[in-house]
Amino acid sequence: MASDAVIELRDPVSRIPRIGPARAAKLAEAGFRTVGDFLLALPFRYEDRRRYGTIGTLNPGEASTLLVRLAGVRSTRMRRGGLRIEAVADDGTGAVRVLWHNRYPSFAVSAQRGGALALYGTPTVGPRGELRLENPETEFFDPGEEADPLHSGRIVGVYHRAAGIGSRAWRTIVRSALDKLTRTPRSASGGPAEIVAALETAHFPERMEDVGPAREKLVREELLIIAAGIEAKRTRLRQRRGVMLAADDALRESARRILPFALTRAQMRALKEIASDVSSGRSMARLLQGDVGSGKTIVAGLALLLAARNGVQGALMAPTEILAEQHAASLASWMEAAGVRLGLLTGRTKGRARAQLLDTLSKGELDVLVGTHALIENPVRFRRLGLVVVDEQHRFGVAHRARLFGKGESPHVLVMTATPIPRSLAWAIYGELDVSLLDEMPPGRSPVVTRVREEKARERVYRFAAERVKAGERVYVVVPAIAEGPREVAATRETAQRIAAFAPGVAVGTLHGRMRPEERTRVLEDFTSGRVGILVATTVVEVGMDVPEATFMVVENAEVFGLAQLHQLRGRVGRSHRKSWCALIVGDRATEEARARLSVLEATSDGFVIAERDLEARGPGDLLGVRQSGLPSMRVADPVRDLRRLGEARREVVARQSAGESIASDLFGFPEAV
Ligand code: ADP
Ligand code: MG
Repeated sequence: MASDAVIELRDPVSRIPRIGPARAAKLAEAGFRTVGDFLLALPFRYEDRRRYGTIGTLNPGEASTLLVRLAGVRSTRMRRGGLRIEAVADDGTGAVRVLWHNRYPSFAVSAQRGGALALYGTPTVGPRGELRLENPETEFFDPGEEADPLHSGRIVGVYHRAAGIGSRAWRTIVRSALDKLTRTPRSASGGPAEIVAALETAHFPERMEDVGPAREKLVREELLIIAAGIEAKRTRLRQRRGVMLAADDALRESARRILPFALTRAQMRALKEIASDVSSGRSMARLLQGDVGSGKTIVAGLALLLAARNGVQGALMAPTEILAEQHAASLASWMEAAGVRLGLLTGRTKGRARAQLLDTLSKGELDVLVGTHALIENPVRFRRLGLVVVDEQHRFGVAHRARLFGKGESPHVLVMTATPIPRSLAWAIYGELDVSLLDEMPPGRSPVVTRVREEKARERVYRFAAERVKAGERVYVVVPAIAEGPREVAATRETAQRIAAFAPGVAVGTLHGRMRPEERTRVLEDFTSGRVGILVATTVVEVGMDVPEATFMVVENAEVFGLAQLHQLRGRVGRSHRKSWCALIVGDRATEEARARLSVLEATSDGFVIAERDLEARGPGDLLGVRQSGLPSMRVADPVRDLRRLGEARREVVARQSAGESIASDLFGFPEAV
């Protein structure tokens, strides 16, 4: 290949000079498959090496970049195996002691070689009052390289080490990639020259103030591509053919007869939207979004009834076994009255019972199967699956969802979620779905009176709990479990014992993920019926539990939970016309900041507001559970700051596409080759 050949952003990394097959393989393994991938690994920090700091003018606590040589290099093996290296750095204006911990032998070799190096760090004052540098970032130069305009005499980017390539080598390779880079890449956000210039500046800025705008260009490009990707997925979903399900008057009439209450307007609107989707000939792909307690289950139940009446089967998948059991119980009570044959399949359905259930299912003698998401992991055979409802409660992963929309048959899909998802993120996560919003609570609900309480108020809190139980109501006490396992068991047991002392005469039960299914079912039944008045539980109660008599929720060590999660927990009470309360007990060691954060829950019961606050405080990973969040992965955009602008990007994409323009970016590899 001619050495002056231009490389494209979508070429494999191996086209970059200095990257041989071995390095290319390592890079690909680390996620850098194309030239574009490689160039999107932007510096995490920039150093102004136009003028180095001098040792003579170092001040403790002030970060500085120095160009030095080392003397008196000594290395000792640390207990953990790494090397501890000590040296004196000198730049002609003075000397300073430098310490590195936990380094590889190759680092010691470089340090002993005697060439120039750049150090970046913040000096501290040592035991004898002398200045020293501990674990500074270090860049060894090859002979003469300290004068190389790539690494010195300019603003340089500092890169994360990846695929065994350190910052300096990374910089060198980026330079050679940029030098060979095409001048005509496809770009979604502007002209090709602009995108090339933005990359150049983001890696090798002439002035610090140019970095922001250059990165912003790349962020905009990325947001447009994420938006275009979601739109493409949306279009694909819309093209799936689906079985036509029609609602007739007889169905409406029987639904009215068996329902234990009148639907809210929001529930009726959602049902209409669902009915219109499933009668269109295309497959439904719809999100039912509604705050905790807004009544999503009954909407799902009616959709399943509609499917059953049209002679197709339905599946309802819950995130936990407890919840699957609850759903099955609450749906069975009225669905069976409507002649719907309902089955429950969980991990505890075993042996004969399981075989029999699967047999009736495949023969079509069962209309609705309720289970955990194991249903898609080990697909069971339906005779004619027409509708899948996923009670997601923000726990189900996108991977699971993707499997639902798999090839072949395409059942209608309804995903239910509570709303700890700010609008800005909702579209990023669920953008390919149509949305029905339950923005109205069933009548007679009043907000859960919520108070943040100190530990010293605990006795009062539990006396109040005892009063609630004596009034025929129920109380949840949630304890954080650091990890699942024995700790979980101990935490619930200890708390239960403590409560028993404050609330004599009240039956206290415990519930945690380690319990055998039979025990769990028994406790839940006891709690539902009132034989157990106070239920001490880990966050297994977070999702979906529905015991309308529960009026008081106590959360121990509330500071360890996110706001959205506490809001979910709190949603376990206030599920009837009764007045309800929530006490958030904060540990003595909780910070003021944590207390202030929790007070948001005292002030509002709006899931959207709470989710926004959580997003600000903890970021979307925490909000949604990092792995499962289903956020598109972002390379330059910031998930908190920039994702809010995705809606705007989407409008632009839709407008431009409907004007006949196609959106493509070589940098972000979109559209993927089909
Ligand atoms: P979520 O949306 O959190 O899943 P659920 O579906 O569990 O909420 O419903 C919460 C409670 O409200 C349940 O006890 C349910 O029976 C009840 N409910 C649902 N819809 C109505 C309604 N229209 N009128 C009265 N109660 C309702
Ligand atoms: Mg629910």
